[in-house]
Amino acid sequence: MIKTIPILLAVLYGLAMYRFSVWRTGRELDEKSTVLADPELVEMSNKMAHALDLARIKVHIYEIEPVNGLAAPDGRIFITRGFYNKFRAGEVTADELASVIAHELGHVALGHSRRRMIDFSGQNAMRAALGMVLSRIIPGIGVWIANGLTSLLAAKLSRSDEFEADAYAAALLTKAGIGIAPQISLFEKLDALTQTGGGRPPAWLLTHPHTKDRIAALEKMKLEWER
Ligand SMILES: [Zn+2]
Repeated sequence: MIKTIPILLAVLYGLAMYRFSVWRTGRELDEKSTVLADPELVEMSNKMAHALDLARIKVHIYEIEPVNGLAAPDGRIFITRGFYNKFRAGEVTADELASVIAHELGHVALGHSRRRMIDFSGQNAMRAALGMVLSRIIPGIGVWIANGLTSLLAAKLSRSDEFEADAYAAALLTKAGIGIAPQISLFEKLDALTQTGGGRPPAWLLTHPHTKDRIAALEKMKLEWER
């Protein structure tokens, strides 16, 4: 019993972190977001809503600069003000922004956005529990191994999420008559931005697998569909 108490505590800690993270994320987004009303982009989201048999898809603007798109645990879709500004400046097209919205919709539809929040707090619990167990077996480096294992698992999980969301987006964009070309051109643009923009890649790329792999996966899918 004594031995299981630390693990139990770690699990409870994980649960508390989860509730807190969901609450904090929701509040932060409520305070710093507005409904996306740009007519060109609303038309794009209407096309996708139509393809999904929905009345409409509500998209929000999250008032931060880093170029990013995100799906909240409650299912709301956000693009950042920084991303929208790139559209206004003509650096990103409406179709390309639609591909980001489609990708985030994929995360919601496939249950990633909720699970990711669980992953995040679950990771903390797993790190703690595994660390405690491993450091008893291998004193000293047990914690270090626990950290490594947890990060590796998390990276693998999020990587497959990204490919799944890309595939969902590709299917949706095709059905909506937008096609997957903007998905590919956006990846290429963001990649170029990383190379020439003086180092710092957009956040949207940092949290995602390598662009080349994503483009390759899309092109493979396209070939299969056209067969
Ligand atoms: Zn994603």
